[in-house]
Amino acid sequence: MRTLVISDIHANLTALEAVLDDAEHSNTGPFDSAWCLGDLVGYGPYPNECIERISQLPNLECVLGNHDAAAVGSIAVDAFNPDARKTVLWTQEKLTPANKEYLANLPERVNLEYITLVHGSPFRPVWEYLLDTRTATISYEFFDTPYCFVGHTHLPVLYYLPDTRVIAQLIVPEHISQMTLAPRAILNPGSVGQPRDRDSRAAYAMLDLTDYTWEWHRVEYDIQSVQERMRQENLPERHIARLSAGW
Ligand code: ZN
Repeated sequence: MRTLVISDIHANLTALEAVLDDAEHSNTGPFDSAWCLGDLVGYGPYPNECIERISQLPNLECVLGNHDAAAVGSIAVDAFNPDARKTVLWTQEKLTPANKEYLANLPERVNLEYITLVHGSPFRPVWEYLLDTRTATISYEFFDTPYCFVGHTHLPVLYYLPDTRVIAQLIVPEHISQMTLAPRAILNPGSVGQPRDRDSRAAYAMLDLTDYTWEWHRVEYDIQSVQERMRQENLPERHIARLSAGW
């Protein structure tokens, strides 16, 4: 049972296709299910295409991100900085009614038997950023499962809190490609469409539920073609530039 874990696609279809291609053709075989941790849209130029591609993934579980909520008007645009706001308005204009409805119906939280799925944190599923061990440690009070998968920060990271510890330990998977998970852990697969760890490649993870093996993956994609499309659509230059630097 292999599960593809993706987050923060941000309307970057080219990065998404590269991830799906890599995941489907990996030497350990294709995946049986897919979990998406939110922010399907926002920043990038292909919001409809990304929703349509993701919604067709096998046995999909998908939660709502803050950009998804903004795109359907359930979060005020004032909550975003001026550049992000411009993209929110652009996305609202582009989305088809069917795709808006799809986003509007996404749950904020999915509780599976052993794993909780949220976008930001188990305390505030749509908005809270898990950026430090203190916030992560407090988060453990807000989910009951051995594992919680999050997105939102666009940083691949693992917060580990076994019974023997009081403060969660932060592990950045820079030189790890595969690990066996142990309870309790909060994991972020990184961002497909807008990585922010100074590595411009698309990030995703593959989880094998039979033995809880978690693989961190990075995939190159045609960043320039996405940037060209963003320029054609007159999207903010800052969001175009950051894709090639990975911040
Ligand atoms: Zn995001």
